[in-house]
Amino acid sequence: MVFVVIVGIALLVIVAINILPMCSMHPLPSGKIEGTDMIAVKNRINNLFFIPSGEDWIVIDAGSDAKAVKQEMELMAIDGQRVKSVFLTHTDYDHVASVVLFPNAAIYMSGQEKQMIDGSVCRQLLKKNSLPALGDSNKIIYLQDNEVIDFGEHKVRIIWAAGHTKGSAMYAVDEKYLFTGDAFKARDGHIAVHPYTMDRKQAQETIYGIKGELHKYEKVFTAHYGVISVYGD
Ligand SMILES: [Zn+2]
Repeated sequence: MVFVVIVGIALLVIVAINILPMCSMHPLPSGKIEGTDMIAVKNRINNLFFIPSGEDWIVIDAGSDAKAVKQEMELMAIDGQRVKSVFLTHTDYDHVASVVLFPNAAIYMSGQEKQMIDGSVCRQLLKKNSLPALGDSNKIIYLQDNEVIDFGEHKVRIIWAAGHTKGSAMYAVDEKYLFTGDAFKARDGHIAVHPYTMDRKQAQETIYGIKGELHKYEKVFTAHYGVISVYGD
């Protein structure tokens, strides 16, 4: 009997730790983002962002459910063949699934994130991150901190933001829009360490480093909490 109670309590704790943080997540609804020419796609608990670049698309992150993302893209007449660049903030499962929909895309991520997918680091316990099987035309490009990719119409700068994973990163697009991935969570105008973070101390240091920079951007897009407009303590 005691054993059953202990197992029951342990299960409740596991559910609380893993499920409850998702309840406070509120990504943007799918559709055009007001005041911009960008499109948000809602995929379960987070967003992917599509940025038009000439005839092509630049995409930030890749969601958890490729089938659902495909349906959303069809509704918004987005052709996955025209996605030429995908910038991953990190390689957790809920940010990488739809790369299979973008067969012509270069996949960009932090050079520090390579260790998350090459088998050298476990995400939690024995679980390792991985990317879905990529096509022949997909190539992975690892970026150094502050490296800028110049697409002519747009410039994308990576900002390393380690903590949530070893190589988590943010992307500044045209120094106007900042995409923060899971570098922090946002609630009631404050930012704090994101749920499911690997190294909370490092994430906290990342937050200290970027908190004062957020006001420089016209809009700050998180992956799970929509656009944030009130910043930190
Ligand atoms: Zn996430």
